[in-house]
Amino acid sequence: QSLTEIKKRGKLIVGTEPTFPPFEFVDEKNQVVGFDMDIANELAKRLGVKLEIVNLPFDSLIPALLQGKIDLIIAGMTITEERAKVVDFSKPYFEANQAIVVRKDGKFEPKKLEELVGKKVAVQLGTTGDLVVSEINGVQVVRFQKFTDAFLELQNGRVDAVVLDEAPAKAYVKKFPKFLISTVVDTGETYGIAVKKGNKELLNFVNQTLDILKSSGTYNKLIQKWFE
Ligand code: GLN
Repeated sequence: QSLTEIKKRGKLIVGTEPTFPPFEFVDEKNQVVGFDMDIANELAKRLGVKLEIVNLPFDSLIPALLQGKIDLIIAGMTITEERAKVVDFSKPYFEANQAIVVRKDGKFEPKKLEELVGKKVAVQLGTTGDLVVSEINGVQVVRFQKFTDAFLELQNGRVDAVVLDEAPAKAYVKKFPKFLISTVVDTGETYGIAVKKGNKELLNFVNQTLDILKSSGTYNKLIQKWFE
């Protein structure tokens, strides 16, 4: 998937996992929209090709990229050492931390990750939230492919908390006033766009586009559009 090949094919294929608002989620019209998807559109526009969005479980995104089924991963994906061994990441384009979301009944409002010991905690399979929670001994981790399912479990009382990135946590809490963020754990993550390892041409194009989006003010407009 060199730039030439993508142009010849006439479409840029982007993989994402669309239960991660406001970065990527399914709207009323059944379209996948969000901050990341606007960036994806900008990339396609600058290449003069159509955008095709492929929805996959989060832990299938890297395998799909390695198999050449998608050109890019744009999925609020944290740049981690482990992932950077198998894919190449763009420059960071967003900063994130993990949030603990609970029911707003005053019964359990953990202020630290350690307070999750002995509790049932829902996460999305293969995310940094999954990693952070799985590192603590004595937490019963329940893994879901979709955050919508994780929050359904929280609503039904089958889990005590959901751990996920702060911005989507805020979006879910806004949508479901029965939940609240009990604390934010400073994990100091940054998101990057992933390309197949060694695809320098595509990586340079992505980085160049991110620079242009920032210097032209488009990036700030997108922040206002999706976060305010
Ligand atoms: N930022 C987190 C990660 O990379 C979660 C991303 C997501 O669920 N879309 O693991």
